[in-house]
Amino acid sequence: MRASQFFISTLKEAPADADIVSQKLMLRAGFIRKVAAGVYNWMPMGLRSLRKVESIVREEMNRAGAIEIVMPMVQPAGLWQETGRFDGMGPELLRFKDRHERDFVIQPTSEEVVTDIARNELRSYRALPKNFYQIQTKFRDERRPRFGVMRGREFTMKDAYSFDRSAEDAGKSYDNMYATYCRIFDRLGLTYRAVAADTGAIGGDRSHEFQVIADTGEDAIVYCPASDYAANIELAEAVAPAGERPAASQPLTKVHTPGVKTIADLVRFLNIDITATVKALVVEGEEEGSAVLMLVRGDHELNELKAEKIAGIKRPLTMATPALINKAFGANPGSLGPVGFKGRIIADRTVAKMADFVIGANEDDQHYTGANFVRDCVEPEVADIRNVVVGDASPDGKGELAIQRGIEVGHVFYLGTKYSQAMDATFLDEDGKPKHFEMGCYGIGVTRILGAAIEQNFDDKGMIWPDSIAPFNVVICPVGYDRSEAVKAAADQLYGELQAKGVDVIIDDRGERPGAMFADWELIGAPHRVTIGDRGLKEGKVEYQHRRDSEATAVAAGEILAHLL
Ligand code: ATP
Ligand code: MG
Ligand code: MG
Ligand code: MG
Repeated sequence: MRASQFFISTLKEAPADADIVSQKLMLRAGFIRKVAAGVYNWMPMGLRSLRKVESIVREEMNRAGAIEIVMPMVQPAGLWQETGRFDGMGPELLRFKDRHERDFVIQPTSEEVVTDIARNELRSYRALPKNFYQIQTKFRDERRPRFGVMRGREFTMKDAYSFDRSAEDAGKSYDNMYATYCRIFDRLGLTYRAVAADTGAIGGDRSHEFQVIADTGEDAIVYCPASDYAANIELAEAVAPAGERPAASQPLTKVHTPGVKTIADLVRFLNIDITATVKALVVEGEEEGSAVLMLVRGDHELNELKAEKIAGIKRPLTMATPALINKAFGANPGSLGPVGFKGRIIADRTVAKMADFVIGANEDDQHYTGANFVRDCVEPEVADIRNVVVGDASPDGKGELAIQRGIEVGHVFYLGTKYSQAMDATFLDEDGKPKHFEMGCYGIGVTRILGAAIEQNFDDKGMIWPDSIAPFNVVICPVGYDRSEAVKAAADQLYGELQAKGVDVIIDDRGERPGAMFADWELIGAPHRVTIGDRGLKEGKVEYQHRRDSEATAVAAGEILAHLL
């Protein structure tokens, strides 16, 4: 590629609304441009890296025996009604009507459509196992799109779905995908950890997230340095064995909260003077539109979240569903045990040891409409709130727990027959009887990977790409390309030779001043740079610099090709 024929558009400063390094650098380096909240143009430079991620994912999926298909972004509501997700999924699912007033969705994931394919096409056990995957645009109307492509609304996901005869076979498909994900993230050159993840309503213990380790990650991972125990903190908190929870000595009180729509309303309703003695955690529930508010005494190490701040939260208070409460607190809502919780803490990730109230409510379930559960906790028993603290014993008994942050870039999930039953998707087994498919689903956040890779690889000058996904692997920077015949000849020759060897090379023939040219390529993060100038050429030398090197090294012009290969 010749830079003069390509499109390079770098910025000195990142737009003011960019929050984290990867987002700032992707904008500055001209990888992406924002179109709307969570919706981006992939500019030519960024698209090159994106395509490389896609092809690594594709190669490894193919190698694993998965079969590529493409399912439509626009999907009819009917299929989504069969599983109950058209109504059940909440506002993340983008719904719309066509000109005939028929309902459609834009796929946030594709279990329904792929299960429909399976029930139409996979008639006999002889057709199994099968694993269909696609690399396709998804849309999720995220409550808080942020961090650039990391939490977009429109994004690219690789989603795969396995169909098996038996749970045992489905386990093999799962293991195959788990191993494939390890290969993919190894090839991408990322530092990651596979962690046990929550299986939500589906249950079972077969769900792992692949988390790229980064301080800016939105997830917290609990792990044991002395063993291979690792879990998403959500899971570690949610799965405290019931036996470890002290029995509830006080039943949960159900209170009516007419007119309570926001957390500020609730605070007013409960008439709690939270400025004085109580700090609060606002916990977002796992299910869309749900939240649990946890008010915590002020004498613990929590980030300050004063009443004024809480009052500023305009989010509707739909709070936790009974299922969520059950799961979080390990009991039926009438007899909540002292508590752990499920969800994402917005205000602070530290779970306090002492809570005054735990409140949950639900809008959908008529049993519960307009009601909140308030458990007035007395101190000694509340001290047993389940949470994970650094230094706690690891559940495998092999050491102490540590916590680090991660970015969820992949997720493998055993689904069982949840979808095949809901959609009555069956195959004829060897005994001639119809059986429901045993399924698994496996996602990779293809666009998110680029953000995650940058969060792990940058310095004050810009990005530092691993060779596997750099937009260009080698950049030739001729100093005086438009003025010096010798420089032009040497640069063109090297460019031709590298191209002939299949190296992904760009020659910067734009005629930029050296300072600006180097700054661009440091920002863009091309791993290998060759600088060719008159001064060096007189001594038969060019300069090589890896993006991680602090200085360039002189290399004999005749040896640079071998040096790069
Ligand atoms: P998160 O917890 O970050 O919201 P998720 O658990 O909802 O992710 P999955 O349903 O497991 O996501 O989807 C598979 C993968 O798609 C995730 O592991 C993640 O890498 C990616 N992904 C999910 N949501 C987004 C998003 N809004 N923007 C970019 N990538 C995403
Ligand atoms: Mg999500
Ligand atoms: Mg998640
Ligand atoms: Mg997930």
